[in-house]
Amino acid sequence: MKYDYLVVGSGLYGAVFAHEAKAHGKSVLVIDKRPHVAGNVYTENVEGIHVHVYGAHIFHTNDRKVWDYITRFAEFNRFTNSPVANYKGELYSLPFNMYTFNKMWGVVTPEEAEAKINEQRSEITGTPKNLEERAISLVGRDIFEKLIKGYTEKQWGRDCSELPSFIIKRLPVRLTFDNNYFNALYQGIPMGGYTRMIEKLLEGIEVRLNTDYLENKAELDSLAEKVVYTGPIDAYFGYRLGYLEYRSVRFETELLDQPNFQGNAAVNYTDRETPWTRIIEHKWFEFGRDAEGNDLPKTVISREYSSEWKPGDEPYYPVNNEKNGRLYEQYRQLAEKERHVIFGGRLGQYRYYDMDQVIAEALRCSEQELD
Ligand code: FAD
Ligand code: UDP
Repeated sequence: MKYDYLVVGSGLYGAVFAHEAKAHGKSVLVIDKRPHVAGNVYTENVEGIHVHVYGAHIFHTNDRKVWDYITRFAEFNRFTNSPVANYKGELYSLPFNMYTFNKMWGVVTPEEAEAKINEQRSEITGTPKNLEERAISLVGRDIFEKLIKGYTEKQWGRDCSELPSFIIKRLPVRLTFDNNYFNALYQGIPMGGYTRMIEKLLEGIEVRLNTDYLENKAELDSLAEKVVYTGPIDAYFGYRLGYLEYRSVRFETELLDQPNFQGNAAVNYTDRETPWTRIIEHKWFEFGRDAEGNDLPKTVISREYSSEWKPGDEPYYPVNNEKNGRLYEQYRQLAEKERHVIFGGRLGQYRYYDMDQVIAEALRCSEQELD
């Protein structure tokens, strides 16, 4: 065999594993079916702006080990995610904090805000059973109706009463004036773009692009002792137990001949009628300046539309409800029998992982496999 490891997928999971394998003296081949490395964190340079081609990616973590690791491959800027919600032209601060409560109800003190939330959350008695109940019990009905319901239903294509409540637990609720979307010790965007960071991880490693593993499986398997597979787990098994559900996302990206379109990296459209879920203005991830610190005269925006995944589309978000959980478990049992294959990453493990969790998982797997 020519290689110790064949890594399928050059996203964050594949790149971290490949880097670690090489560092342990192993020979590695990385393949990807796309024409570029970096998976969903891929960024492309347009007029000096690093465009997040597969959607906005803000790195954030509380895991010191992950932070120390990833900052070896890129310097991170001080970007803090503070999205703005646009509900029919009314603008609100996110996540839910004193600025939001003041705009929604005119309340001024944390005590007044708390009283208002308590009054509204009292309609939910008992443990919240789904996202709708969970959201109302967290922030009350007004915020649910204006800032959560439309956005969530557009994003997931399902009624809030049919969605699991954990999706919303990610969102902080604060009785302080703090628009930082994440409760994370460390946060930022890699200067020079995510693609460069992935290229650094993959330095000195052979990469073949435009290569689909599943279409050339026998031939590729014969090249390596072991396979690290980061594609969709159901695709690996030819969907033989049925399709796992994913949400897909479509981006409409435009280069505009103006310096400032919306004044913020992310604006969420939280009403049901606007067809897109959010608009990203990529230059604000790097404060509107190029690498030399010059203001950029143009701007690039992406409208993000959410859709149900169908075969042939890019799978983005696993839909982690009960039905899919059961099906995934069956696939996982099949996967366990594939002794020479490690299933990793967001699609291989069918988990709604953030980047830091993917890095932590890839490091954990590397330690187990390589040490
Ligand atoms: P991927 O990046 O999907 O990589 C898998 C790779 O495998 C792809 O390149 C694919 O082409 C390749 N592949 C698949 N099948 C095959 C095959 N058969 N043959 C060859 N190659 C194959 N996380 C955050 O921490 N912060 C954020 O702000 C954030 N925002 C997000 C926004 C969106 C719209 C989405 C969808 C995700 C976001 N995430 C965010 C999550 C983040 O993108 C993932 O955690 C991370 O990129 C997953 O890395 P991965 O390597 O597991 O998967
Ligand atoms: N959410 C919402 N309104 C918003 C932003 C988020 O209701 O303006 C809810 C929605 O249910 C979403 C969840 O919070 O699915 C998590 O949002 P986040 O932005 O963390 O998801 P991402 O798309 O970045 O993974």
